Amino acid sequence: MRRQEFDYIVVGAGTAGCIVAGRLREDARRTVLLIEAGGSDRSPLIRMPACVPFAYQNRRLGWGYRSGPEPELGGRTIDEKRGRVIGGTSSINAMIANRGNRRDFDGWAAAGLAAWDYAHCLPYFRRMETFSGGADAWRGGAGPMRITRSAAAHPLYARFLRGGEQAGHPIAADHNGAEQEGLHIAQAFIGGGERWTTARGYLHEPGPTANLTIWRRSLVHRIAIDGGRARGAVVTRGGETVEAIATREIVLCAGAFNSPQLLMLSGVGDAAQLRALGIELRAHRPHVGRNLENHPGVNLQYATRREDSLVSELGPVGRVALAGDWMLRRRGLGTSNFFEAGAFLRTRGDVAFPDMQLEFLPLVRFVRDGRLRAGPGFQFWLDLSRPASRGHVRLRSADPAAAPVIVFNHLAAATDRSDLIAAIRLTRALVHQPAWEGIRGAELLPGADATTDTDLEHFIRSHLGTSYHPSGTCRMGADADSVVDPQARVREVDGLRVIDASIMPRIVTANLSATVMMMAEKLSDCLLGRPALAAAGAPAAAA
Ligand SMILES: Cc1cc2nc3c(=O)[nH]c(=O)nc-3n(C[C@H](O)[C@H](O)[C@H](O)COP(=O)(O)OP(=O)(O)OC[C@H]3O[C@@H](n4cnc5c(N)ncnc54)[C@H](O)[C@@H]3O)c2cc1C
Repeated sequence: MRRQEFDYIVVGAGTAGCIVAGRLREDARRTVLLIEAGGSDRSPLIRMPACVPFAYQNRRLGWGYRSGPEPELGGRTIDEKRGRVIGGTSSINAMIANRGNRRDFDGWAAAGLAAWDYAHCLPYFRRMETFSGGADAWRGGAGPMRITRSAAAHPLYARFLRGGEQAGHPIAADHNGAEQEGLHIAQAFIGGGERWTTARGYLHEPGPTANLTIWRRSLVHRIAIDGGRARGAVVTRGGETVEAIATREIVLCAGAFNSPQLLMLSGVGDAAQLRALGIELRAHRPHVGRNLENHPGVNLQYATRREDSLVSELGPVGRVALAGDWMLRRRGLGTSNFFEAGAFLRTRGDVAFPDMQLEFLPLVRFVRDGRLRAGPGFQFWLDLSRPASRGHVRLRSADPAAAPVIVFNHLAAATDRSDLIAAIRLTRALVHQPAWEGIRGAELLPGADATTDTDLEHFIRSHLGTSYHPSGTCRMGADADSVVDPQARVREVDGLRVIDASIMPRIVTANLSATVMMMAEKLSDCLLGRPALAAAGAPAAAA
């Protein structure tokens, strides 16, 4: 087998991987290899924000995974999108930029991860971003990732906010700043009218450097572990099997499905399961792949007259104008992901901070004949922020090209069912405010007939979907059962870290990518042996 040597190897040029590789190469004395299974990200489908649905539905840009059969959802399987392309899922996602609630991170610290409280995370959230609203104590003004506050020009966004106020909820001036709770105008990873991926921010904009090598269309089969130390990555590229050797460290950034899959393929996992598949055991770590978390949710949809909905601007003429405006000037609707308003609210009075999220769309989306279409109306994607149910990722076979088994066990916990029912009722209450009079047509989903808890639970079981936020499968912790330690080092294997959504100790109250970026920034300092940034309002501490 051909061998090639580097100081660091980063597996997966995704959301976290581009940041880790981008930071590691700042040390010009070190060589870095970044390995990605997918190909180039130079596609207008990725660049133009309004193309989101085409990007995430494009089979050439994804892994084509499905979760399930889901025991509580009648054995249904659910499409689980994942980017397989430079930039990873940041190249196909909806670009919504939400940090999570400060109490999420304080909760991580309370669980034993002292250096992960919000005061220690905030400097990295700031370092990562350039916010269109300007820098302040909460926001960054000079980071590689561009975040733009949405224009929210369509009149239905204003109705969404007014309805929320009338229902008694606050409006958050900057939900990524001092206070998250309430309704808000959204923020997105968009800069200059284009999608801003971590590949863009950390690789393309700074430009190439001699010490960074990128292998595209290269599938990592496993990490070679000798005598308790990770030595290299076994990779297929162009029909050839190559071993990339790391003289310093290997970092898995393959995401919440593929990082545990790669650990297990490398012999790190549950001894009995690995032996049953003929995989030689390197470390018995039964929690690899367990603790799978996600944000499960449903759509609530209402009809409107066509002229009241954004869909009226998306007819054949409108689409041509949208494309032309974007291509010539990077302006207009082409620069929007259409999720220009949202909310973080509480389903119940007794939760300490918001436990449900809304993403508002001024049109309705539905699948017909296998294709995603838009219609007149408006909709709320509603999800639970911190559900109690947990699932798992397991190997289907010892073949590295085979999709892993993914089961979320959504709704296994009774509280998840009752919280979703409460969330639907709360959202309905927003729509039955004076702000919506004269606009609101029939309730399309769940439908006005669904009134009792039994009706709503039936609707939830048959319609539940995913926000595409898998996490927690290589959980970071200070306890012995955790897969990685507080510096993301795999327990019982030297020279190997995991940095991506899989290490989240507990899912956060937001879409995940901003938190993944913050974690990658913070852990890059650990990798480079740099002192951690000083905690906001507190003296410096080790990361
Ligand atoms: C459709 C969709 C919409 C979303 N919308 C939002 C949103 O609006 N806002 C938000 O914050 N979050 C959103 N998310 C979630 C968010 O994008 C992810 O949580 C985040 O990007 C995960 O980052 P990651 O680094 O863990 O993994 P990824 O970004 O998925 O990176 C993993 C990388 O590793 C590569 N890889 C995996 N296995 C191998 C292997 N064996 N060999 C080589 N390479 C490999 C993959 O191809 C990929 O490039 C969305 C997700 C989806 C799917």
